[in-house]
Formats: sequence, structure tokens, C-alpha cells
Amino acid sequence: MTDRTFRLAVPNKGRLKESTARLLRESGLVFEQTERALSVRVRNVDMDLLFVRTEDIPELLLDEVADMGITGFDLLSEAEPDLPVVAELGYGRCQLVVAVPKSSQIDKPEDFSGLRIATSHPVLTKRFFDARSIDVDVISLRGSVEVAPKLGIADAIADLVSTGSTMLVNGLRPVIDILESQAVLAASPLATRDRSDDIERVRLALMAVVAGRRKRYLLLNAPESAVPTIAQIIPGLEAPTVVPLAQAGRVAIHSVVDAGEVWALLPDLKVAGAHDILVLPIEQLIP
Ligand code: AMP
Repeated sequence: MTDRTFRLAVPNKGRLKESTARLLRESGLVFEQTERALSVRVRNVDMDLLFVRTEDIPELLLDEVADMGITGFDLLSEAEPDLPVVAELGYGRCQLVVAVPKSSQIDKPEDFSGLRIATSHPVLTKRFFDARSIDVDVISLRGSVEVAPKLGIADAIADLVSTGSTMLVNGLRPVIDILESQAVLAASPLATRDRSDDIERVRLALMAVVAGRRKRYLLLNAPESAVPTIAQIIPGLEAPTVVPLAQAGRVAIHSVVDAGEVWALLPDLKVAGAHDILVLPIEQLIP
């Protein structure tokens, strides 16, 4: 069993499909994705990709059909809470929230006592209210959960939101956050036991891309006298690299900065004397 080609299950459609395929390609895997093929051999690594439904991935891991999988943390928690999360991948972010019609007075968990809550996450919803000893009637629905109150099927819903606009359009107001979710890399129990080297290899390759996306490579020229000021401005991975230029008294400074900090850093660097500033993407970062 452990000798067979390593299998990574990934979404074949839906919200996580494109971002997952991009992550795999950026990590260096070369593969062709066709609409019909369930299993695709990776060209440059001894690995098969299984293209399956996002919501089936937890079950495929538990059944040992796949060794690892990429799916939503919400789906993993709903189906197989004991499957280990190997890494958080930083996309597919959303929250499972309980929402009520805008006209409702409800604003805290206790107010839901005795009410009907429609959701496609019945396990997580029930667990949330059970943990607080609040008795609710959880109605399991697949899809279009947000119309349940309008149809009179439920008093409230528990559904995934990222921007919240779908809820607004449907006249709903979020009241409670049950769970924060994002795409995660998970492993099967057998692979966790017998293929830890393979798991670590996949984790390292994917996290190198995820870490790289959060950073930028910063290159700039400056007078040597400005180095102490610039070094203080740049919160680099470690101390920035300072390289002398052919022109006496001038240096090039290389550093890695948080992608979100670039915006604020640039004016300060200019004032400190930096010029010819380049901000470059980082394909992979292994600390
Ligand atoms: P799919 O059903 O294949 O489109 O995938 C749904 C999964 O995408 C969910 O289980 C979440 O993990 C993730 N997701 C991210 N943002 C949202 C959102 N706003 N609504 C629903 N699912 C989301």
C-alpha cells in the first residue's frame, strides 16, 4: 500500500479549484488538467493528482484513497475533525456565520434557543450550540441555504461568507461567527504514519510558495552614509545585504519585506536617500 504512487486530492471544480491548481504549478509541479480525467500523473515528480469534489476530499483521506488533500477547513471540520491539518494555505478564506433576517431582534447565542437553523454545516452548527447547552433545531440543507428564512423553512441560517454581500442581498444580518476557514493541506491517517517524508516534501514545497506570496524582494541604491537610516526603516528577514557599487560611496541594498509593508516603506526610503528602488515578487521562500 505504502509503495504505490503518492496521491494528492485536489478540487476539480468550485471556488478552490483555480487557486489550488495555481499553487501546485507555482510550487513546481508540472501536470495537465483535463475536464474528464480523475487521476493525473505529475510529469516531473512521482505523484498522482486526484481531481475530485472539494467536499469529498475529507472522506477520501479517511478511506486512504488519497494520501493528502487540499480542501476547505470548514469541510474538513464538518466531516472529519480528527484529520490533521498539515498547513494553512492562505486562500479560500471565509467564515461560517449564523445569520438572521434583518428585522429579527436576535443578537446573541442564547436568543437562538428553540429556533430552527438551516445549514449545510450541521455538525459544526450543532457542536457550537451544544457546547453552550443551547437547544436548537438544526435543519440540514444542501445549497441555497440563504433563502430558507424567506421560505419559512428556518428562523436563521448558518452559512459561509467572505464579503457578506450575498447575505445582505438576502436581507440577512450575521450574528455569530462559528468558524474561520481557509484552504488547508491535510493528510490521511495512514500517510501520517507511514509516509511522513512525502508529507513533509509536499508541505515544504507548498509553504515555500505561500510564504513567498506574503513577501517582496526589495532592491535599491543609496549613498553609503544613508545605510544606517535605511537599515532601520527596512524590517528585513535578517540584516539587509549591502553591496558596494562601482561608484565610490554608493551601495545597493537588498532585503525581503512583508508585501503589505511596501506601500508605507517607499516614501520613507525615498526621503532617506534611496533611489532606483525595485520591488520584485518572490516565487518561493524557504526560511
Ligand atoms: P465549492 O463547493 O467546491 O465551491 O467549495 C466551497 C468551499 O470554498 C467552502 O467549503 C469553503 O471552504 C470555500 N469558500 C471560500 N469562500 C467561500 C464563500 N464565500 N462561500 C462559500 N464557500 C467559500
